[in-house]
Amino acid sequence: MTKCPCLQRSDILSQKCLLRWIFDKVACACTSYVLTSRKIPKPLVMDIGLYIHIPFCKSRCLYCDFYSTTCNESLYDTYLKAVLLEITMRLCLDRKVRIGTIYMGGGTPSCLGGKRIADMLDYICNMLDVAEGAEITVEANPDDVTPELVGHLVRAGVNRVSLGAQTFDDQMLALLNRRHSAQQTLQAVRWLNEGGIWNVSLDLIYGLPGQTLAAFEYDVHEVLSTHVPHVSAYSLMVEEGTPLARRVARGELTPADDDLSRAMFERMLDILESEHFEQYEISNFAQFGHRSQHNSSYWKGVPYVGIGPGAHSFDGRNRRFNLPDLQAYFKNPARPPHEVEELTPMERANEAVMVSLRTKEGLHLGAFQDVHGCAAFQYVMREAEPLLQQKLLQQTDGRLSLTREGIFVSDMVMSKLMQV
Ligand code: SF4
Repeated sequence: MTKCPCLQRSDILSQKCLLRWIFDKVACACTSYVLTSRKIPKPLVMDIGLYIHIPFCKSRCLYCDFYSTTCNESLYDTYLKAVLLEITMRLCLDRKVRIGTIYMGGGTPSCLGGKRIADMLDYICNMLDVAEGAEITVEANPDDVTPELVGHLVRAGVNRVSLGAQTFDDQMLALLNRRHSAQQTLQAVRWLNEGGIWNVSLDLIYGLPGQTLAAFEYDVHEVLSTHVPHVSAYSLMVEEGTPLARRVARGELTPADDDLSRAMFERMLDILESEHFEQYEISNFAQFGHRSQHNSSYWKGVPYVGIGPGAHSFDGRNRRFNLPDLQAYFKNPARPPHEVEELTPMERANEAVMVSLRTKEGLHLGAFQDVHGCAAFQYVMREAEPLLQQKLLQQTDGRLSLTREGIFVSDMVMSKLMQV
């Protein structure tokens, strides 16, 4: 086996070599070591998710409160290097983990362009232990998708793309300050499919200002016309500090009321169900074999590492948040400013209730008792009793899950089961 030239040891790669690889983008003398070292048997390896936040958007949408910035392209290369440095420092020397899924989200990852995305993924796949056939998802704005971008994604191993369609009403898209048209969404799906990416997800928003039930039904049917195997649908939220919130406060816009939003959601459930989509999470629908593996691991409590400003991580016990500050991130990407939230046993039990009840499988009661103890289990069972009687919850095969009725009041149901 090749030894690291800096440390002259066969089991550790020096940071100096790794950083040379990143910044010079030339073959580091250690690269062959890294590649060969991946063959060393690992006694106990845990699969984790890798999330990479791309905090750039070409314009800001009316309703959005995610951390992203509109900036010129001159920062993109600097950001790429910073992200690779954070990945190196946090993951390259950890031989106890394997990357089970990769998710590039934002912001708008596609605005980086295909070459940068491919460079980033090449680096990750060369430097980290990435599981064979790992799901690699990139979020994209429909108007960024071109045959050239698709070519880069396919060559880099991307096998899933999530497109922010939101609606197929061009006037509504303009009102939301989205920068694409309905036609561009349809074309983007065609180009992805032609390039070999069939695992495409479309995002929809319902309850938009002035949107009718019929208009939303049209959106759902447009999604079906593309034959994508996955749909995510979210109710419009009026988040504080957004342009939408200001326009709602001035009385210029009125989102759909609760009854109409619920009618839209129910209609969508019926249509998607009839087309063999399974509602595997409150807001996510997939045809057989097309659940998002990365997002599913969040709901199963699988650890994940979030890279980039504003990204969250979870090590199975505690949470970590990189601060949403791009300039601060650039100053020290090797150790970006962050906060760690140490969860108490009660908070961990509450977290388990909250994330698992979002899923079709629900809360596995036996596993919950084993991990979180008898007192937490008894609390949940006691609080669940009236909700079972009201048919907001159901208990089957040792699992507690939301009924269709319960999905509409899921926040209330979850809060009742969470210890205070
Ligand atoms: S593209 Fe996405 S992240 Fe960017 S402003 Fe719009 S909704 Fe927010």
